[in-house]
Amino acid sequence: MRGVVTSIRLPRLSPDRVDRVRARLARELGDSKVVADAASLEANAGDESDQEPILPDVVVRAENAEDVAAALRVAAELEVPITPRAAGSGKSGGAVPVAGGIVLATIGMNRIVDIDRAEHVVVVEPGVVLGDLHRAVEAEGLFYPPDANSLAWCAIGGNVGENAAGPRALKYGATRDWLLGLDVALVGGEATFVGRRTKKGVTGYDVAALLCGSEGTLAVTTRVVLRLIPKPERVVTMMATFADVHAAGRAVMAALGSGIVPRCIELLDARTLDAVRARGVAVDEGARAMLITEVDGGEDDAMESAGRVGSRFDDAGALAVLVAQDASQRDRLWEARRQLSPATRAMARHKISEDVVVPRTKVPALLDEVDRISEAIGVSMLTYGHAGDGNLHVNFLWDDDDHEPRVEAGLDRLFRAVLTLGGTLSGEHGVGTSKAPWLRLEQGDLLVDLQRRLKAVFDPKGLLNPGKIFDESARSGTKGHRAC
Ligand SMILES: Cc1cc2nc3c(=O)[nH]c(=O)nc-3n(C[C@H](O)[C@H](O)[C@H](O)COP(=O)(O)OP(=O)(O)OC[C@H]3O[C@@H](n4cnc5c(N)ncnc54)[C@H](O)[C@@H]3O)c2cc1C
Repeated sequence: MRGVVTSIRLPRLSPDRVDRVRARLARELGDSKVVADAASLEANAGDESDQEPILPDVVVRAENAEDVAAALRVAAELEVPITPRAAGSGKSGGAVPVAGGIVLATIGMNRIVDIDRAEHVVVVEPGVVLGDLHRAVEAEGLFYPPDANSLAWCAIGGNVGENAAGPRALKYGATRDWLLGLDVALVGGEATFVGRRTKKGVTGYDVAALLCGSEGTLAVTTRVVLRLIPKPERVVTMMATFADVHAAGRAVMAALGSGIVPRCIELLDARTLDAVRARGVAVDEGARAMLITEVDGGEDDAMESAGRVGSRFDDAGALAVLVAQDASQRDRLWEARRQLSPATRAMARHKISEDVVVPRTKVPALLDEVDRISEAIGVSMLTYGHAGDGNLHVNFLWDDDDHEPRVEAGLDRLFRAVLTLGGTLSGEHGVGTSKAPWLRLEQGDLLVDLQRRLKAVFDPKGLLNPGKIFDESARSGTKGHRAC
């Protein structure tokens, strides 16, 4: 039986080759940008997924596009694996250097290069933290909607790498919907711009869209051009509680049928509410499900929209519908939502969090299946997430190491159920190593092989971020767990 911790490990470089690579990189980039001390290697070994951390042989701390190109040139010449990395908050193993080699750290490239107020465009380097980008453009009255809950930490390079999304994707979409163009460097060090800086443009293939979500397997991003819109004048945040998740599921469909597109509808199931209560947040004991919903718009119409959505919740049987009265109440509510990941992590020694998607009409069916899986495998599970677009974080929580095989069986059953319901394995975290063994189940042989061929066009020797997306040998180990 396969173990739950993803522990793909590819063959490593010999000590001689490691010495040669380090020396060559230091010559090209200078000693200060090429580090191999134990602390630096460790800091670049893992991410926030269940993929076992694996030490690289050397870390390049890129400060500009030339550094990135130089590292990629050395990687090609010496035929060394190279793994791009931003903040390392990924949840599918994308930034883990599973073959060792070079980690190309782009987090130091963190300049906001230009905020163009006339064109509503922002140009940033890949190490800019998402929350910093939000603050910078909002200070200019502009708005960048993608809002991964890791926004205080994750960076734009990783957001593009994973096509990250967040609660506001319900109305505004994911990173790809805001991406206009990218400066990239290829294995070998050639550099080019893909995409455009204008609002419209249809020349050639949409390579920027292809690279977005390619998990650092095709090219390395050195600069990103993103579209902006004017900041909505008003945001109204509501919290509605329900006696069970089915009532909440009905309320989601009722709200979406109201003619209003809320910018998010976040669901918390009964066990998640227990975790929230355990963190000291007061939630009515009778509530077994909660929806956190936001609408935005002009000063006058946002409140009216909120009223319409709220009355749909009432009609669907809400126990209570509360509207945040000011920004600080709203911030507290969102802080509680953003704390769900650490709060639920504290509930058991081990946690795996999936980010499956089903058609939103099938959310109640998925939640029923989660209950059945939990009962069948005897492992605690809880679910929260972006119910408005059917993207749910299904969590497995367990203490006993011997329960690994049960969790593995539960994961397999979950993924198969999701596909039977017409869904997809990942709504935002990507495939990485964690979901690679199931990719073929969703996409079939032809599509997987087409993508492998595409990868070979960009990277014929398979040096750039090897072991990701397509490597079905992942999840074959049973080495120790990290509670992730
Ligand atoms: C508490 C928590 C909450 C989260 N909430 C969300 C959420 O709401 N929505 C969501 O989408 N995700 C979420 N995530 C997952 C994660 O934050 C996102 O996937 C994020 O986009 C990763 O960004 P990063 O900077 O940490 O990238 P990393 O983890 O460093 O890298 C991610 C991928 O991008 C590639 N990459 C990084 N930089 C570059 C570059 N310069 N060029 C090419 N490829 C590159 C890497 O090789 C890797 O494959 C959450 C994670 C945590 C821990």
